[in-house]
Amino acid sequence: MSDRHGHRRARTWEMLSARDPGAAALIVTSLPNIRYLTGFSGSNAVLLLTGDGALLGTDGRYVVQAGAQCPDLPLIVDRVTMPAVVAQWAQRSGGALAFEAEHLSVAALRDLQSAIPDSASVTFAETRGIVEECRVVKDALELDLIARACRISDDALAAILPTVRVGDTERTIARRLEAKMFALGADAISFETIVAGGPHSAIPHHTPTDRPLEPGDFLLIDFGAEVGGYHADETRTFVMGLPQEWQSQTHALVLAAQEAGRLAARAGAALADVDAASRSIIDASGHGELFGHGLGHGVGLQIHEAPFFSARSVGMLHGGSAVTVEPGVYFPGRGGVRIEDTVLVTNGPPEPLTTTERGLVALG
Ligand code: ZN
Ligand code: ZN
Repeated sequence: MSDRHGHRRARTWEMLSARDPGAAALIVTSLPNIRYLTGFSGSNAVLLLTGDGALLGTDGRYVVQAGAQCPDLPLIVDRVTMPAVVAQWAQRSGGALAFEAEHLSVAALRDLQSAIPDSASVTFAETRGIVEECRVVKDALELDLIARACRISDDALAAILPTVRVGDTERTIARRLEAKMFALGADAISFETIVAGGPHSAIPHHTPTDRPLEPGDFLLIDFGAEVGGYHADETRTFVMGLPQEWQSQTHALVLAAQEAGRLAARAGAALADVDAASRSIIDASGHGELFGHGLGHGVGLQIHEAPFFSARSVGMLHGGSAVTVEPGVYFPGRGGVRIEDTVLVTNGPPEPLTTTERGLVALG
């Protein structure tokens, strides 16, 4: 276990040194980044990384857990964790301390600055996205966990679909699906399950309510299981009973856009081009303004992580990334369709990790 994390820390250090050769240490404060670099999954942690070592800080609640999850790392236990870790390093060495600008609040930075002992010489250097960039390409263990989370998600959906009836509320369907994911081995749910019936399906991030499903409703379900800290993300849109013409057409349009986006998601593709592959199909139908979100995102220790697909995205896709492709078309007040899969990026067409039937399925 420690080998894997040691390797990740070494890669992070290389990336930091390439960007900021003067940095003497990096203070990592993002919990998912700390989990990636150490295996530690507690809710309070600070990691100080140098060219030849690392120092983990936490508080008394997590001493046993830290000893079990990262026995090789020197540990500092202090309730005021971050200043304690930095002060210890500053006393021994000092120099330019790089910090994660997206994850350290201005107040925490001020506290750190005042925790530096007078005898030490420390300057602060802002960095962005160093560990996140390392996380973009997954290793075999990470891909296995994501694939397991996706399989549980597919299986849970398949198990509850035959039970969905007109009259069921969004909330009860969400709880049934979540219970099934746990029963199949999920450690957690990836995010708050979205179950949206009828007009609610036009709200991309709807929170389930007590509204009962009615005949003719669209039913949009966006959900995922979490396994070993890794997430799955999947959306399917169903219809209660026979679809009306506009429903079949909207579903077919989103499905075509999703297929085009999936096929475009290959190693080496520009991120903006993947978004455009899907979006151009919806634009051509005249419904471009009804697709108001990005095409997808990376999935890993976080449900939303790099890379991100949008018209403004810069950069390209890498083989070994797990990403979602999730176009949607939403008619306010009437209903909407989104179809989302988590896929593994390769040199050829991506490998779908969520595989539930994508065609329009009538329920009830
Ligand atoms: Zn989703
Ligand atoms: Zn998503």
